[in-house]
Amino acid sequence: MTSRSLEARQYHTLYRTALWKQLRLAQLAREPLCHMCEELGLVTVANTVDHRKAHKGDHALFFDPANLASLCPSCHSRHKQRMERGGKVVRYGADGYPV
Ligand SMILES: [Zn+2]
Repeated sequence: MTSRSLEARQYHTLYRTALWKQLRLAQLAREPLCHMCEELGLVTVANTVDHRKAHKGDHALFFDPANLASLCPSCHSRHKQRMERGGKVVRYGADGYPV
């Protein structure tokens, strides 16, 4: 189990840029609540910034403030797991957790 998403590992250089750190903070300041919880009528503080449209390394999408969404940790991991399961083989380690 890792707290870092597959996407974050693949594009770690993008997530390390000063511009991303700035965009992330600006997004959380503008939308401090999880937008997935909001749709369910729940109020949850967000601490993760996700891309609405998968950027797949595309800088224009990655750095587009309109493509960002605020998520809480549980919505983020649920959302990512669903995306990562689609099409990809999930392998399980000896402890029973996906590796
Ligand atoms: Zn949420």
